[in-house]
Amino acid sequence: METKKLSESLLQILVCPRDREPLERRGSFLVCPCGHDYPIVEEVPVFLLEDKEQTIAIAKESLTVARQFVQGTPPEDRFFTSTLGINAAEKKSGAR
Ligand SMILES: [Zn+2]
Repeated sequence: METKKLSESLLQILVCPRDREPLERRGSFLVCPCGHDYPIVEEVPVFLLEDKEQTIAIAKESLTVARQFVQGTPPEDRFFTSTLGINAAEKKSGAR
């Protein structure tokens, strides 16, 4: 599967969600001048904030998997289904 590269034009308009500072790519992260970092998973930046109360149940799992992914631990399946909030039976049947 080919992954498109995060474009320079998109990078120029993205800002840190905490302080609205510009972001710079450093390896598998977008980083702001204040040191906040956001993992990039398959060229998709993940802007979930671990220090904020999450409003959807899957956000914490999504952020955990994203951080593990950029640290070299891929998810159990390549479609990141653990971040979808469905159980094993639902995955197998395709029903919710
Ligand atoms: Zn920041």
